[in-house]
This record gives sequence, C-alpha cells and structure tokens, in this order.
Amino acid sequence: MSKETQGRKISLQRAEELKSHTAEYLAKRPHIVKGTDPDAIEKYETQKAKLLTLLNGSEADWNDWQWQMKHRIDGPELLSELLDLTEQEQTDIRSLGDMYRFAVTPYYLALIDPADRLDPIRALSVPTSPEMDDTGEADPMGEEFTNPAGIITRRYPDRLILNVTNACAMFCRHCQRRRRIGDTDVDVNKELLDESFEYIRNNPEIRDVLVTGGDALALTNEQLEYILQNLRSIPSVEVIRLGTRTPVTLPMRIDDAFCEMVEKYHPLYLNTHFNHPRELTPEAVAACAKLSKAGVPIGNQMVLLTGVNNDKYVVQCLNHELMKARVRPYYIFHAKAVKGTGHFGVSVDDGLEIMDHLRGRTSGMAIPTYIINAPGGLGKIPILPEYLVAKDEDTVTLKNWEGKLIEYPRG
Ligand SMILES: *Cc1c(COP(=O)(O)O)cnc(C)c1O
Ligand code: SF4
Repeated sequence: MSKETQGRKISLQRAEELKSHTAEYLAKRPHIVKGTDPDAIEKYETQKAKLLTLLNGSEADWNDWQWQMKHRIDGPELLSELLDLTEQEQTDIRSLGDMYRFAVTPYYLALIDPADRLDPIRALSVPTSPEMDDTGEADPMGEEFTNPAGIITRRYPDRLILNVTNACAMFCRHCQRRRRIGDTDVDVNKELLDESFEYIRNNPEIRDVLVTGGDALALTNEQLEYILQNLRSIPSVEVIRLGTRTPVTLPMRIDDAFCEMVEKYHPLYLNTHFNHPRELTPEAVAACAKLSKAGVPIGNQMVLLTGVNNDKYVVQCLNHELMKARVRPYYIFHAKAVKGTGHFGVSVDDGLEIMDHLRGRTSGMAIPTYIINAPGGLGKIPILPEYLVAKDEDTVTLKNWEGKLIEYPRG
C-alpha cells in the first residue's frame, strides 16, 4: 500500500471515530424543542391570538414594546386563562408575587406550552412554591461593599458596572439580583447618574463601562441616549456594553429607533441572557440580526439552572442556535444560593461535566466560560475541567478532550 492510501485509510478510520462522538447528540437534538420549530411557532401563535383577544390588542400593538410593557401579566387571574393553574398555584402566585415581583410580557408568556407543566419557559417566568424556601442569601455578591460612587459597582481595575435601573421587562424567577428588583420600577436618578459619570471621568483607568440594572433596555431610548452621550464624552471610556434580557423577553424592544440611536455611540457591545433553545424564536433571532446590522456584537450569559438547561445536549443545542443568530456564547454562570432560587441550583460537578462535554465536540466559539461569582464581591472565577493533570520537573501531562493523556515538555 502506498503512503498516500495508508494515510487516507487512517484518516477515514479516524473520521468514523469522530462521527461516533457526535452520534448521541445528533440522536437527541430532534427532541430538544427550539424556538424556530414549526410546532413551537404554531403553539406560540395560538397563545398569542388568545392574549391579543384578552388584552384587546392588535398585531401592531403586539410588536410595540411599550404596549408589551404596559400589558405585562402580573397576577394569576389572566394567567389562568392561558395556563391550567390549580387553586393552590393561584394562591402561591399571589403571595409569591408579593415576595418577589412577578410580571411577564405577553410575548414571553405566549412561548409557554400550556400542556407542559415542566416547560422551561414556564419555570423561568411563573412563580412556584419552592421560592418560599428562605435559605440562601439576599446579596451573596456583597454588592453593598463595591459601590464607590453613585450607581456604580466596581470590582475590577479597568471596568465597572452602572446600575441604571431596577426595572426589567420580565422578572426572572431565577434572578440572581432579586434584592435589587424591589416592588416598583425606580427610574434613573439624574443626580446619581451624574455623580457616577463624574467618578468615571476622575478615574481614567476605567476603559469599559457596563450599563445594566435590572435591564438597561427597560429605559426609553431618550434615557439611554443621555447615558451613552455622557459616557462618550469621557475620553478614557473606550468600550460601552449594554446588559439586557430584552432580546429574549421583549425582542420588539430592539426597534429601528434604538438601532439608529446606538450606532452613534460605537464601539458598543450588548450582552444578553438566553437560557434555552426555545427562547431563540423567529422574533428573537430577528432582534439579534437587527443588532448585528447596527454593528453591535452580541454575547450571551446563560445561567445554569435545574429544570431549564442542566443537560449537556440542551446547552450544546443552545450554543449552536446562538451561533446561528450571530450571538457568541460568553459566560455560563453557576447559580449562587440566592434566597428564593435554591430549587434552580446545579452542582459544580454537574456544571463541569457539561463543560467537559462541550470541549472538542463543538466549535471553540460555541464554548462559553463557566463562571462562579465569588462571594463577597471578589469577582468572577472561571472554572475548567482539568486539562493539565500533572507537572514534573521537565514535563507536563495534558489531557485532551477525549481523555487521552499526553506528555509535553515544560520549557
Ligand atoms: C461581571 C462584571 C464586570 C464585567 O466583567 P467581564 O468579565 O469583563 O465581562 C465588570 N464589573 C463587575 C462589577 C462585574 O460583576
Ligand atoms: S432580566 Fe436579569 S436582572 Fe432582570 S429579572 Fe431577569 S435575570 Fe434578573
């Protein structure tokens, strides 16, 4: 056999071996519901029509983000018209809504499959009794101790957060910032904002400012523009990032006026928060496309949650759907023990197993960094499966994605 045919034979054998590494995922994928599946779209259209009748709205209203915000569902009465709720569930929703705000946009509510009590979209948006469990902390990140001025959170040398609002389009049941949400929307306080701009101006090592909340896009375009304009007037601010879940919970928020406005303030990035492939609906994908067209790179920060995405194939599928929508998976957050969210918790070992599965089996661009937010405001800590398994004087022992060990010279 010639050298070439020998090489081809080995390559073909190896390709078969590689195929087997993805066979399981390919077998599972058709059973993971995606927001663009015809079945999912049909169910959404049915619920949407019901909601439009109940709320006396038109198609144009549905696509108007202000209408969506005004018509958020915040109690069990309307909810039980769409989902089958027991008496107990209705009572729970009423009392839990008092403990932790409950409001969901008609758009996001229409994504829930009413026939599925374990629907991940439902778990993310509708209160359930395990939220009454009082264990966990209110502020595990120690945000009170990292606030040098105004509405700033600073934990890093060159970047900081501006918490411009406590409002969100929807109040996620797993929210890690529940303490901030409060009972009513608090508008940006101009004095605190101006104090924050002053701080950034006086600390020119700050080159990256994250505008978030709550949800930065709960503000109007005018309010946002005031913030962006002021940040851009500070010469040391190089990059501005917006933190918002609206591409997921209120995709109509990404309207033409918003895109035209942000184009004036580049380089501007946006980080959002998709947790499940179901959330990548045609509407959400269109919102991401508009952002891309406006030159805004989009990153995704998923939270790892039991009953939603604690499954390596679901995470793999989510990241593929994100890449198709030109959204780069950026972080997977380990859920902290925040009061009222304990039932969503996933162990670090299970998180690592998901990361271990992704590496090698899919594009590096589709692999986010798994992060634990250190208690006490000590920052984000990336955690990785062990790829460096031993070190001795001259060599390191490395493990590849398939678990094969390799000796490699240190110097
Ligand atoms: C997460 C975070 C940032 C941004 O961190 P990156 O890792 O650069 O995305 C900045 N400031 C604070 C306080 C943060 O928590
Ligand atoms: S959008 Fe973000 S801050 Fe707002 S409720 Fe959801 S997770 Fe919390």
